Order: sequence, then structure tokens, then C-alpha cells
Amino acid sequence: MMLTAMEKEQEKVLEGEKFSRLLRRNKLKVTQPRLSVLHIISDKETAISQPELEKLLGDAVDRVTLYRVLATFEEKGILHKIFDLHGTATYALCSTDCDEHHHHDEHVHFICASCNSIYCLDDFKMPKIDLPAGYQLHSIGVNAVGLCAQCKPLTK
Ligand SMILES: [Zn+2]
Ligand SMILES: [Zn+2]
Ligand SMILES: [Zn+2]
Repeated sequence: MMLTAMEKEQEKVLEGEKFSRLLRRNKLKVTQPRLSVLHIISDKETAISQPELEKLLGDAVDRVTLYRVLATFEEKGILHKIFDLHGTATYALCSTDCDEHHHHDEHVHFICASCNSIYCLDDFKMPKIDLPAGYQLHSIGVNAVGLCAQCKPLTK
């Protein structure tokens, strides 16, 4: 679907309102750096690293502020962290049932071995794991590694 410039502008405004509500719901002040980070991350289909965010934000947000925004968002259950194949932390939006100190992003992450892009595969839920008595589960991470649709050479 192609959007006109006006529709796009309208969508941005609506998105901004949605993000403001999200911040307030988490008892966070609505600030420009926080909104900018949410806009960039929700626009991207893949998880994004702090250096990539820095590049996209330019001079609008300094590094320390960005670091704090990401740490707060992770703590509040707004973003979840995924490590790429080089061990770099990347961030993606959380599912709606995440809240402060409790993440429920129990889905598979697909990491492209060629371009290093990370996709949240929300439809692939984690299996239930029966732990031995006395063990407590905090999180399960499953990464599927392969070639994404952009990198996979078309067959035929
Ligand atoms: Zn989460
Ligand atoms: Zn790829
Ligand atoms: Zn994810």
C-alpha cells in the first residue's frame, strides 16, 4: 500500500500519540529522545544496535542519553535485547505482555549469517521446559541462524 505524504504525516502523529501513551503507562516522562528511539525501532523490521541508532539519530541525541533510554526501556519491558552473531546487543520492541522486570518475549530470533540482521519471529513460541526440582527459569533464548530473504539467492 502506497501512502501519500499527508497520510504518512498523519501516521507519524498517531504513532507519536501511541508512544506517548506507552511512556506514560510506564510512568516515564515523554521526551524527544525517547520518542525518537521508539519511532526508529518501530519503523525497522529488524532489531537495531546502539551504534546503528546513533547513526540514525545523528546529533539529536547524545550517546549517554541514548544509553540511558535503552537501559530504561529494557528495564520497563518496552524493548528486549538480542545479541547478534558478533555479540553486539541489538534491540527490538517487546510484546505487549512485557512489564517492568518481566519480559515475555518468548519467541525465536532469526539471525542472518550474511547481513547479521535479526528478526523477531513472534509466531514461533518457546517450548515449555520442565526443569529439575529446585531450578528456576528466567528466560529461554532460541536463535535460528541462516540466510534472510534479502540474502538468500533466488532459486530457479
Ligand atoms: Zn520484553
Ligand atoms: Zn541477510
Ligand atoms: Zn524478539
